[in-house]
Amino acid sequence: MSEPQQACDLLPEDVDSDDCLISYTHIYSPDLLKDQVAFITGGGSGIGLRIAEIFMRHGCDVVIASRNKDKLKEAAKKLCVASGRRCLPLCLDVRQPESISAAVEETLKEMGRIDILVNNAAGNFLCPAAALSFNAFKTVMEIDTMGTFNASKVVYDKWFKDHGGNIVNISATLAYKGQALQVHVGSAKAANDAMTKHLAVEWGPSGVRVNAVAPGPISGTEGFRRLGGPKGEEAGLFRSIPLQRAGNKTEMAHCALFLASRASSYVTGAVLVADGGSWLTSANDFSRLMGIWSSEKREKSK
Ligand code: NAP
Repeated sequence: MSEPQQACDLLPEDVDSDDCLISYTHIYSPDLLKDQVAFITGGGSGIGLRIAEIFMRHGCDVVIASRNKDKLKEAAKKLCVASGRRCLPLCLDVRQPESISAAVEETLKEMGRIDILVNNAAGNFLCPAAALSFNAFKTVMEIDTMGTFNASKVVYDKWFKDHGGNIVNISATLAYKGQALQVHVGSAKAANDAMTKHLAVEWGPSGVRVNAVAPGPISGTEGFRRLGGPKGEEAGLFRSIPLQRAGNKTEMAHCALFLASRASSYVTGAVLVADGGSWLTSANDFSRLMGIWSSEKREKSK
């Protein structure tokens, strides 16, 4: 008789870099998003790139939209090769509604529809509140919170209002315990979680569902590197997480896929926490994080 499968055997494939997966095993039907179109802000790197890939591997065409055109073009090329679907790279800054309008119009012209909006673009850096400039706080609020509202409103006005659709916001758990060094992102994402509910209430009657995924520490991302994730993993810090490890980008993409698809057809206004139980048990250690922050600053100034 074969051994019972360990939970770790069931992890979906991932690669740490901003490359596509070497192999992929479908959990959901490969047709789940067949011929749909997703608009993904920040889809050229990290979690957003993997969401784009997983959606494409489920039959979706995607637009990846952010500021860096070269990065987007390179990502789009890789995504098309890996999935055989269409990927349109478009430049925008989520702080500028007119740039979102232009990108959404281009999407509708090229792809003919939008079924899913993923608000994933965000600024990310560690900084204690005492050292955070007024401008830095404002910038993160503008990208993470205003950016989410701007993109949601443009897509709603131009398409979802008359055709319905799905919005998936990428949130975070930082505000739940007031995570040290993250007052900017924590405040912005807490506002987004409120926005998820407000928009779910107002836009539900138009056939628009609005939900969020709140990732914990996710390997192979810029946020993870900046938080000292690889060193923390070596030092056994993740043993305090109930599931004993960091998450991976494909796991976050599967959560986004669930919320963006008919698999979650009666779910709206929900925040799906996908952190292995991390926020329930992990230390919120201001001194340790201040240590990481100070040594990174020293390294940079050398
Ligand atoms: P990432 O690779 O740095 O992704 C952020 C993306 O946002 C980039 O592709 C960037 O592209 C884009 N972006 C930044 N400012 C923008 C702007 N003004 N307009 C348009 N696009 C902009 O980081 P990630 O770690 O994958 O994070 C993805 C999401 O997951 C974020 O919402 C983050 O808060 C959330 N999250 C991550 C973790 C984690 O462990 N990594 C944990 C919790 C939550 P350009 O530079 O080309 O603009």
